[in-house]
Amino acid sequence: MSNTRNRFDHINQRIEKAFINSGRSLSKPVTLLAVSKRHPLEKIQALYELNQRNFGESYLQEALEKIKHSSQPDIIWHFIGPIQSNKTKDIAQNFQWVHSIDRLKIARRLSTQRSEMPPLNICLQINISQESQKSGFSVDKINTDMEEIMKLPNLTIRGLMAIPKPSSDFKQQKADFRQLRKLMQQLNEQYKLQMDTLSMGMSNDLEAAISEGATIVRVGTALFGPRE
Ligand SMILES: *Cc1c(COP(=O)(O)O)cnc(C)c1O
Repeated sequence: MSNTRNRFDHINQRIEKAFINSGRSLSKPVTLLAVSKRHPLEKIQALYELNQRNFGESYLQEALEKIKHSSQPDIIWHFIGPIQSNKTKDIAQNFQWVHSIDRLKIARRLSTQRSEMPPLNICLQINISQESQKSGFSVDKINTDMEEIMKLPNLTIRGLMAIPKPSSDFKQQKADFRQLRKLMQQLNEQYKLQMDTLSMGMSNDLEAAISEGATIVRVGTALFGPRE
């Protein structure tokens, strides 16, 4: 528990310091998304006691168990993992956010299966480093599909998400994140959208992400320790 508390304090200090260094406006704060995949519900509860409310999960069955057994109705659950099309219904109905939409078909299914609920907050995942094995829209593809996605009634397009190729070079990290920020600006102008969310930065690169405008950083290991 004290371990959890120390890690939590440390991450929040890193976020605050990066935010101050960036000179960003206070009107767009950074939200810490605690990535709790492969960690038990008790650890989620421990962070909840410290006022953490946003939790991210990548594996659907595991996440559904936790959601069912958690007794805190004000937790905000984010799905951030790869999405198979036969899993979209449970995702649409159990999460408030989905960060990992990587193709039009998935967006369509989530919208259909979200009906009768408030709109689902979505981020479109972009394959920013153009790695062939990594999921996400290419920059070309997002331009092809954006108008279709915008028409889907039960989704609110909140922004973009990326997992750039890991790098230990701060300048390289910044360059990747800057690309995502620029892309969001360009799409907002082109399609008259009001996307306000950049989901970027993890345990090892959150400083670079915040300096380039991240509004959600997704942190697992640095918060919970190694996964089980
Ligand atoms: C696991 C995961 C994270 C957290 O990664 P850590 O290195 O443990 O901080 C962030 N984003 C996504 C999409 C993940 O799958």
